[in-house]
Amino acid sequence: MEVTRRQFLNLGAASTGVLGGSALGFDLAMAKQVKQHLRIEGATVSHSVCPYCAVGCSLLAYTKKASNGKVELLQIEGNPDSPVNEGTLCPKGATSLELAVSRRRVPSPLYRAPGAKEWKRVSWEFTLDKLARNIKASRDRTFLTKDADGNIVNRCEGIAFAGGAAFSSEEGYLATKLMRGLGVVHIEQQARV
Ligand code: SF4
Repeated sequence: MEVTRRQFLNLGAASTGVLGGSALGFDLAMAKQVKQHLRIEGATVSHSVCPYCAVGCSLLAYTKKASNGKVELLQIEGNPDSPVNEGTLCPKGATSLELAVSRRRVPSPLYRAPGAKEWKRVSWEFTLDKLARNIKASRDRTFLTKDADGNIVNRCEGIAFAGGAAFSSEEGYLATKLMRGLGVVHIEQQARV
């Protein structure tokens, strides 16, 4: 008989009420049966870190080879051994599985031209080219060599940059170098937001 996790919990609660089955209040044979059907049984456990914010909660990711030979990501949960999150995750981190497996995930860049109503799928070449052109145009338009008092400032006031918590230290260093090189002064990191 197939028993879902929900049915098992309901059964355990009901058994506790009538003090039947065992001293724990539920049928251990039933518990063993449920264990045999855990999705993550036999899965490989890998350690990771939540990419969403600077708290850096530790994650456990469960993967298993499917019958078609592909490795499937089955589950992501908080790592109970982590001194940072002790197995807990906030609602955002608890949905991190969706980052990899959601059917609603956008698989390529989308572009909506000025005045257009629809987004259209575009290549990464197009996207990077467009980004570079827009950055140059904004910088050329808003670059300031002197402030109102005549002080030399050489800064670009028309672009702001916000780094993500998934940045490594090296990526953060590189991004800051690039932005400072462009004269961008409005630089922020999600860790401080
Ligand atoms: S689980 Fe929540 S608090 Fe922890 S790192 Fe992720 S987003 Fe931040």
